[in-house]
Amino acid sequence: VKRNPGEVEFHQAVKEVFLSLIPVLAQNPAYIKLAVLDRLVEPDRLISFRVPWLDDQGRVQVNRGFRVQFSNAIGPYKGGLRFHPSVNASIVKFLGFEQIFKNSLTGQAIGGGKGGSDFDPKGKSDMEIMRFCQSFMTELSKHIGADTDVPAGDIGVGAREIGYMFGQYKKLVGAYEAGVLTGKGIGYGGSLVRKEATGYGAVYFVDQMLRHKGLSFEGSTVVVSGSGNVSIYAIEKAMQLGAKVVACSDSSGYLYHRDGLNLSTIKRLKEVENKRCEDYVLEHPDALYVEGCSGIWTIPCDIALPCATQNEIDKASAELLVRNGVKAVGEGANMPSTLEAVDVFLENKVLFAPAKAANAGGVSVSALEMAQNSARLSWTMEEVDAKLQQIMNNIYKECMDASEAYGIPGNLVIGANIAGFVKVADAMLAQGI
Ligand code: NDP
Repeated sequence: VKRNPGEVEFHQAVKEVFLSLIPVLAQNPAYIKLAVLDRLVEPDRLISFRVPWLDDQGRVQVNRGFRVQFSNAIGPYKGGLRFHPSVNASIVKFLGFEQIFKNSLTGQAIGGGKGGSDFDPKGKSDMEIMRFCQSFMTELSKHIGADTDVPAGDIGVGAREIGYMFGQYKKLVGAYEAGVLTGKGIGYGGSLVRKEATGYGAVYFVDQMLRHKGLSFEGSTVVVSGSGNVSIYAIEKAMQLGAKVVACSDSSGYLYHRDGLNLSTIKRLKEVENKRCEDYVLEHPDALYVEGCSGIWTIPCDIALPCATQNEIDKASAELLVRNGVKAVGEGANMPSTLEAVDVFLENKVLFAPAKAANAGGVSVSALEMAQNSARLSWTMEEVDAKLQQIMNNIYKECMDASEAYGIPGNLVIGANIAGFVKVADAMLAQGI
């Protein structure tokens, strides 16, 4: 805390991991003796840079760009780029730190990184987005590469932004280095199922967790927060598995449709027309729109899937969900539940799927995109989806096994942190880094 003053999100992410590691540290004192934790919390490097760009009125605007290269102990740095006004060093460090363990859990050879900018894409024209992405990449290009650091999307960064950044990268390096970014368009090196991967993967993970207890999505009522990339495909997969998804949200408010949301309306509004959740009720007058996104957790449900942003479920929301009978919570977003909210779920025996395990499907398919780029071939949708399911099942098993091995069976928070940590820690010790 002294060394990283004011970085509250980073402190929160580190605290959660360190508390989980107590059993593994007790059994392996070498990790303490050799200062593995001290090494882990200090990123390899944190790059911060000026991003000047011209708006449509010809005025110069300036934003701040970041890339944190946290750990390449088991593979090249890998993690998304976030464009949102809230982005700062603490946010990218918490995301980059989480990414180390998440990427380790996937079983693929990828290290941890993250980046982004405080640029707000809302209300910007397509040309402004393009000019911003080009300026951002002009600096970022010096630090990334297919074997060095491979960024992808996150909040505010989808296929369009990745496309503009990829185009600029190619101009700067003069080579078609397909594997430098993931989340690319399908026509130029992207992977099928990458767009769907985080949402689908989260539902596959929660499905495993439910089945273990004799439960399923079939016939359950589900609430999904957000209405972006992760949310839309979590809704789609939950519906395919027979659930009724009754609510979603954006940063302005939430939608409640008692008989179940109409997914094709949501996809059109969000993916094509760039509209808001409140526009849904114009087409579906029997649905309800309420201002303020945190109210979404007042809706009774069997399964809650927070898929918007960090700390969107606080202690009071968690208590309300429990009182309303929630049986399972699966984190699609990164760190959407506060530490106190997680305690409420665990104390009340709610099945809880932590972000670094449940939302690892996105980065897993990104690593599959890198593999396809290296091999210069493309797999079919069925092939990639089958691999994604297999990876999510393996992650679930690894987390369960670790939770059992360290005496807290079924606690997936501890299981995920320990399983992710051990591989990275051992690699760091072996390499003396
Ligand atoms: P998108 O930008 O596609 O969507 C984000 C959604 O969350 C939007 O509906 C947005 O509403 C809402 N939201 C964003 N910030 C806030 C906020 N401060 N308060 C309330 N609502 C907010 O992002 P993604 O779907 O890609 O990412 C969502 C979460 O999933 C993030 O935590 C991200 O780190 C995590 N994640 C994403 C992966 C991916 O593959 N994309 C992989 C793994 C994790 P509005 O439009 O109004 O801003």
